[in-house]
Amino acid sequence: MELQKYIRDVQDFPKPGIGFKDITPLLLNNEALTTALDAFIKLVDGQKIDKVVSMESRGFFFGPMIAKEIGAGFVPVRKPGKLPYETIKQEYALEYGTDVLEMHIDAIQQGDRVLIHDDVLATGGTAEAVVKMVEKAGGIVVQLDFLIDLTFLDGKKKLEGHTVNALIEY
Ligand code: AMP
Repeated sequence: MELQKYIRDVQDFPKPGIGFKDITPLLLNNEALTTALDAFIKLVDGQKIDKVVSMESRGFFFGPMIAKEIGAGFVPVRKPGKLPYETIKQEYALEYGTDVLEMHIDAIQQGDRVLIHDDVLATGGTAEAVVKMVEKAGGIVVQLDFLIDLTFLDGKKKLEGHTVNALIEY
């Protein structure tokens, strides 16, 4: 099944010049949703994973489903001030300025084997920050699995040394 036809391009969202990859048509179609989830499970290839870590908010669609299927726990990574308990924080660079991501301090145990998932790999800044945060917490990043890789932005370069997969490439 060709998953790419379930991705809708929305020009100039959320601001002028951005070509937004809207994954909601894929979520809407049960066959496409199932195909994508099955493909994510296949990428794990039976490896032991303790935690699936996903970023707010579109990483939360598949992250918990993947975790459930592979027998792992799920860890949400969120923007500052959203998580209620004590957090570890990771700053990362944006085009202008910086932003911060947070994760609960007790989410990752020393030596946990971690799969990082998000919907889109663009410049790789977000994923790189999550890798740093997971490693700071004592986790081992086994792989990073994305629905979409915007390869022309070369996000993989920021994740060198890690296994990076995507179901759809542009
Ligand atoms: P980056 O840090 O540049 O790799 O950006 C990745 C984050 O921004 C992901 O959480 C994506 O959800 C979101 N994102 C970046 N570019 C796009 C895009 N063209 N369409 C949809 N989401 C995007």
